Amino acid sequence: MAHTIAVLSQKGGTGKTTAVRTLTDVLRRSGVRTLAVDLDPQGNLSDYFDLPTDVGPTIADVLSGRATTAEAIHQDIIPANMSLAEAELMLGGKMGRELTLRRALAESAEDYDVILIDCPPSLGLLTVNALVAAAEVLIPIQCEYYALEGLEQLLRTVDLVKSHLNPELAISTILLTMYDGRTRLASQVAEEVRSHFGEVVLQSIIPRSVRVSEAPSYGQSVMTYDPGSSGALAYLEAAREMAFRSQSS
Ligand code: ADP
Ligand code: MG
Repeated sequence: MAHTIAVLSQKGGTGKTTAVRTLTDVLRRSGVRTLAVDLDPQGNLSDYFDLPTDVGPTIADVLSGRATTAEAIHQDIIPANMSLAEAELMLGGKMGRELTLRRALAESAEDYDVILIDCPPSLGLLTVNALVAAAEVLIPIQCEYYALEGLEQLLRTVDLVKSHLNPELAISTILLTMYDGRTRLASQVAEEVRSHFGEVVLQSIIPRSVRVSEAPSYGQSVMTYDPGSSGALAYLEAAREMAFRSQSS
Protein backbone atom coordinates (compact mmCIF):
# COMPACT_ATOMS: atom_id res chain seq x y z
CA MET A 1 0.00 0.00 0.00
CA ALA A 2 1.54 3.28 -1.07
CA HIS A 3 2.19 6.05 1.38
CA THR A 4 0.95 9.30 -0.17
CA ILE A 5 2.55 12.69 0.42
CA ALA A 6 1.08 15.96 -0.87
CA VAL A 7 3.70 18.63 -1.50
CA LEU A 8 1.91 21.87 -0.92
CA SER A 9 2.21 25.58 -0.44
CA GLN A 10 -0.29 28.17 -1.54
CA LYS A 11 2.44 30.22 -3.15
CA GLY A 12 4.26 29.67 -6.42
CA GLY A 13 8.02 29.43 -6.54
CA THR A 14 8.61 27.92 -3.11
CA GLY A 15 10.26 24.78 -4.49
CA LYS A 16 7.35 22.30 -4.57
CA THR A 17 8.02 20.94 -8.02
CA THR A 18 11.76 20.81 -7.40
CA ALA A 19 11.16 18.90 -4.17
CA VAL A 20 8.89 16.34 -5.86
CA ARG A 21 11.24 15.88 -8.80
CA THR A 22 14.35 15.57 -6.66
CA LEU A 23 12.88 13.41 -3.89
CA THR A 24 11.49 11.07 -6.56
CA ASP A 25 15.04 10.52 -7.79
CA VAL A 26 16.40 10.01 -4.29
CA LEU A 27 13.69 7.50 -3.41
CA ARG A 28 13.88 5.57 -6.67
CA ARG A 29 17.63 5.32 -6.38
CA SER A 30 17.22 3.56 -3.06
CA GLY A 31 14.71 1.13 -4.51
CA VAL A 32 11.54 2.81 -3.23
CA ARG A 33 8.82 2.39 -5.85
CA THR A 34 7.71 5.98 -6.33
CA LEU A 35 4.83 7.42 -8.34
CA ALA A 36 5.06 11.16 -9.07
CA VAL A 37 1.75 12.90 -9.71
CA ASP A 38 1.60 16.29 -11.40
CA LEU A 39 -1.49 18.09 -10.11
CA ASP A 40 -0.61 21.55 -11.41
CA PRO A 41 -2.18 22.68 -14.73
CA GLN A 42 1.12 24.40 -15.50
CA GLY A 43 2.63 20.95 -15.95
CA ASN A 44 6.04 21.98 -14.65
CA LEU A 45 6.70 18.59 -13.10
CA SER A 46 5.87 16.81 -16.35
CA ASP A 47 8.30 19.09 -18.22
CA TYR A 48 10.89 18.51 -15.54
CA PHE A 49 10.70 14.77 -16.19
CA ASP A 50 11.09 15.51 -19.89
CA LEU A 51 7.89 13.68 -20.80
CA PRO A 52 6.70 14.38 -24.35
CA THR A 53 3.62 16.65 -24.37
CA ASP A 54 1.60 14.10 -26.38
CA VAL A 55 2.49 11.25 -24.05
CA GLY A 56 -1.11 10.07 -23.66
CA PRO A 57 -3.76 10.33 -20.93
CA THR A 58 -2.99 12.79 -18.13
CA ILE A 59 -4.30 13.42 -14.63
CA ALA A 60 -7.09 15.52 -16.21
CA ASP A 61 -8.35 12.41 -18.04
CA VAL A 62 -8.25 10.43 -14.82
CA LEU A 63 -10.17 13.05 -12.81
CA SER A 64 -12.83 13.37 -15.49
CA GLY A 65 -13.25 9.61 -15.86
CA ARG A 66 -11.87 9.39 -19.41
CA ALA A 67 -8.91 7.21 -18.47
CA THR A 68 -7.98 4.75 -15.77
CA THR A 69 -5.13 5.58 -13.45
CA ALA A 70 -2.98 2.85 -15.00
CA GLU A 71 -3.53 4.34 -18.45
CA ALA A 72 -2.28 7.74 -17.28
CA ILE A 73 0.94 6.44 -15.71
CA HIS A 74 3.93 6.96 -17.98
CA GLN A 75 7.36 6.02 -16.63
CA ASP A 76 5.90 6.06 -13.11
CA ILE A 77 4.64 9.62 -13.58
CA ILE A 78 1.09 10.89 -14.02
CA PRO A 79 1.54 14.06 -16.07
CA ALA A 80 -0.58 17.20 -16.25
CA ASN A 81 -1.14 19.96 -18.74
CA MET A 82 -3.47 22.94 -19.20
CA SER A 83 -6.48 20.65 -19.67
CA LEU A 84 -6.33 20.09 -15.92
CA ALA A 85 -7.76 23.58 -15.36
CA GLU A 86 -10.88 22.58 -17.25
CA ALA A 87 -11.06 19.22 -15.50
CA GLU A 88 -11.01 21.07 -12.17
CA LEU A 89 -13.99 23.19 -13.22
CA MET A 90 -15.93 20.13 -14.41
CA LEU A 91 -15.12 18.29 -11.21
CA GLY A 92 -16.69 21.11 -9.20
CA GLY A 93 -20.21 20.04 -10.17
CA LYS A 94 -19.84 16.38 -9.30
CA MET A 95 -20.79 14.29 -6.29
CA GLY A 96 -17.81 13.13 -4.30
CA ARG A 97 -15.68 15.72 -6.05
CA GLU A 98 -13.19 15.93 -3.16
CA LEU A 99 -12.64 12.16 -3.20
CA THR A 100 -11.92 11.73 -6.89
CA LEU A 101 -8.13 11.69 -6.71
CA ARG A 102 -8.10 9.46 -3.64
CA ARG A 103 -10.23 6.88 -5.40
CA ALA A 104 -8.15 7.09 -8.55
CA LEU A 105 -4.82 6.64 -6.76
CA ALA A 106 -6.20 3.73 -4.76
CA GLU A 107 -6.38 1.81 -8.06
CA SER A 108 -2.60 1.81 -8.31
CA ALA A 109 -1.64 1.96 -4.64
CA GLU A 110 -0.42 -1.65 -4.59
CA ASP A 111 2.16 -0.94 -7.27
CA TYR A 112 4.01 1.74 -5.29
CA ASP A 113 5.61 2.38 -1.92
CA VAL A 114 5.35 6.17 -2.10
CA ILE A 115 3.18 8.55 -4.10
CA LEU A 116 4.32 12.18 -4.27
CA ILE A 117 1.76 14.76 -5.40
CA ASP A 118 2.93 18.11 -6.77
CA CYS A 119 0.13 20.54 -5.90
CA PRO A 120 -0.80 23.76 -7.73
CA PRO A 121 -0.05 27.05 -5.92
CA SER A 122 -3.61 27.49 -4.66
CA LEU A 123 -6.01 26.06 -2.12
CA GLY A 124 -8.76 25.13 -4.56
CA LEU A 125 -10.44 21.85 -5.40
CA LEU A 126 -7.31 20.24 -6.85
CA THR A 127 -5.38 20.86 -3.66
CA VAL A 128 -8.28 19.62 -1.55
CA ASN A 129 -8.27 16.44 -3.65
CA ALA A 130 -4.57 16.03 -2.91
CA LEU A 131 -5.15 16.55 0.81
CA VAL A 132 -7.93 13.96 0.84
CA ALA A 133 -5.73 11.47 -1.01
CA ALA A 134 -2.67 11.99 1.17
CA ALA A 135 -1.56 10.76 4.57
CA GLU A 136 1.07 13.46 4.92
CA VAL A 137 1.68 17.03 3.85
CA LEU A 138 5.14 18.33 3.04
CA ILE A 139 5.38 22.12 2.94
CA PRO A 140 8.43 23.70 1.34
CA ILE A 141 9.11 27.16 2.72
CA GLN A 142 11.38 29.56 0.91
CA CYS A 143 13.76 31.37 3.27
CA GLU A 144 12.80 34.90 2.27
CA TYR A 145 10.97 37.86 3.67
CA TYR A 146 7.36 36.82 2.97
CA ALA A 147 7.97 33.19 3.95
CA LEU A 148 5.15 32.89 6.46
CA GLU A 149 2.63 34.93 4.52
CA GLY A 150 -0.49 32.96 3.63
CA LEU A 151 0.56 30.03 5.76
CA GLU A 152 -2.37 30.54 8.17
CA GLN A 153 -4.78 29.95 5.34
CA LEU A 154 -2.95 26.80 4.30
CA LEU A 155 -3.04 25.44 7.86
CA ARG A 156 -6.76 26.18 8.05
CA THR A 157 -7.39 24.30 4.84
CA VAL A 158 -5.42 21.30 6.10
CA ASP A 159 -7.42 21.38 9.35
CA LEU A 160 -10.73 21.56 7.52
CA VAL A 161 -9.87 18.60 5.32
CA LYS A 162 -8.62 16.71 8.36
CA SER A 163 -11.80 17.24 10.36
CA HIS A 164 -14.29 16.64 7.55
CA LEU A 165 -12.72 14.35 5.01
CA ASN A 166 -9.43 12.78 6.05
CA PRO A 167 -8.83 12.37 9.79
CA GLU A 168 -5.41 10.73 9.23
CA LEU A 169 -3.94 13.75 7.50
CA ALA A 170 -0.89 15.29 9.17
CA ILE A 171 1.58 18.00 8.33
CA SER A 172 4.61 15.78 8.72
CA THR A 173 7.37 17.78 7.13
CA ILE A 174 8.44 21.34 6.59
CA LEU A 175 11.38 21.76 4.27
CA LEU A 176 13.29 25.02 4.29
CA THR A 177 14.44 25.81 0.76
CA MET A 178 16.48 28.35 -1.19
CA TYR A 179 18.48 29.19 1.86
CA ASP A 180 21.12 31.81 1.23
CA GLY A 181 23.65 31.38 4.00
CA ARG A 182 25.20 34.78 3.31
CA THR A 183 22.15 36.74 4.42
CA ARG A 184 20.99 37.25 7.96
CA LEU A 185 17.40 37.30 6.76
CA ALA A 186 17.57 33.66 5.68
CA SER A 187 18.72 32.49 9.09
CA GLN A 188 16.11 34.67 10.79
CA VAL A 189 13.37 33.13 8.67
CA ALA A 190 14.66 29.64 9.38
CA GLU A 191 14.66 30.38 13.09
CA GLU A 192 11.16 31.83 12.98
CA VAL A 193 9.81 28.80 11.12
CA ARG A 194 11.45 26.45 13.62
CA SER A 195 10.04 28.27 16.62
CA HIS A 196 6.60 28.24 15.01
CA PHE A 197 6.49 24.64 13.82
CA GLY A 198 8.96 22.78 15.99
CA GLU A 199 10.14 19.32 15.10
CA VAL A 200 8.30 18.86 11.82
CA VAL A 201 10.88 21.24 10.34
CA LEU A 202 13.67 19.11 8.89
CA GLN A 203 17.18 19.78 10.15
CA SER A 204 18.45 19.64 6.58
CA ILE A 205 18.01 22.91 4.72
CA ILE A 206 18.11 23.12 0.92
CA PRO A 207 20.56 25.88 -0.07
CA ARG A 208 19.90 28.29 -2.89
CA SER A 209 21.99 26.68 -5.59
CA VAL A 210 22.57 27.42 -9.24
CA ARG A 211 23.02 23.70 -9.87
CA VAL A 212 19.50 22.99 -8.56
CA SER A 213 18.01 25.66 -10.82
CA GLU A 214 19.99 24.57 -13.90
CA ALA A 215 19.01 20.89 -13.67
CA PRO A 216 15.44 21.18 -15.08
CA SER A 217 16.61 22.46 -18.46
CA TYR A 218 18.39 19.12 -18.86
CA GLY A 219 15.30 17.17 -17.79
CA GLN A 220 17.19 16.07 -14.70
CA SER A 221 17.13 16.69 -11.00
CA VAL A 222 20.26 17.84 -9.25
CA MET A 223 20.71 14.24 -8.04
CA THR A 224 22.01 13.21 -11.47
CA TYR A 225 22.94 16.65 -12.86
CA ASP A 226 25.46 17.30 -10.09
CA PRO A 227 25.29 14.57 -7.44
CA GLY A 228 28.16 15.98 -5.39
CA SER A 229 26.74 19.50 -5.15
CA SER A 230 25.48 21.03 -1.93
CA GLY A 231 21.89 20.95 -3.20
CA ALA A 232 22.04 17.23 -4.00
CA LEU A 233 23.56 16.40 -0.62
CA ALA A 234 20.93 18.46 1.18
CA TYR A 235 18.09 16.65 -0.60
CA LEU A 236 19.70 13.33 0.25
CA GLU A 237 19.84 14.30 3.92
CA ALA A 238 16.25 15.57 3.84
CA ALA A 239 15.04 12.27 2.41
CA ARG A 240 16.95 10.37 5.08
CA GLU A 241 15.30 12.41 7.80
CA MET A 242 11.85 11.85 6.32
CA ALA A 243 12.33 8.07 6.22
CA PHE A 244 13.68 8.10 9.75
CA ARG A 245 10.63 9.98 10.96
CA SER A 246 8.07 7.72 9.40
CA GLN A 247 9.81 4.69 10.93
CA SER A 248 9.94 6.18 14.40
CA SER A 249 6.38 7.50 14.46
P1 ADP B 1 7.03 25.76 -7.15
O1 ADP B 1 6.74 24.42 -7.70
O2 ADP B 1 6.72 25.88 -5.70
O3 ADP B 1 6.41 26.86 -7.95
P2 ADP B 1 9.70 25.34 -8.18
O4 ADP B 1 10.17 24.06 -7.62
O5 ADP B 1 9.21 25.32 -9.59
O6 ADP B 1 8.62 25.99 -7.24
O7 ADP B 1 10.89 26.38 -8.02
C1 ADP B 1 10.75 27.72 -8.49
C2 ADP B 1 12.04 28.15 -9.19
O8 ADP B 1 13.11 28.14 -8.27
C3 ADP B 1 12.45 27.19 -10.30
O9 ADP B 1 13.01 27.96 -11.34
C4 ADP B 1 13.49 26.31 -9.65
O10 ADP B 1 14.43 25.79 -10.58
C5 ADP B 1 14.14 27.26 -8.68
N1 ADP B 1 14.66 26.57 -7.48
C6 ADP B 1 14.04 25.63 -6.72
N2 ADP B 1 14.80 25.24 -5.69
C7 ADP B 1 15.95 25.95 -5.79
C8 ADP B 1 17.17 26.01 -5.02
N3 ADP B 1 17.34 25.27 -3.94
N4 ADP B 1 18.13 26.88 -5.43
C9 ADP B 1 17.96 27.64 -6.52
N5 ADP B 1 16.86 27.63 -7.28
C10 ADP B 1 15.87 26.80 -6.94
MG1 MG C 1 5.35 23.93 -9.20
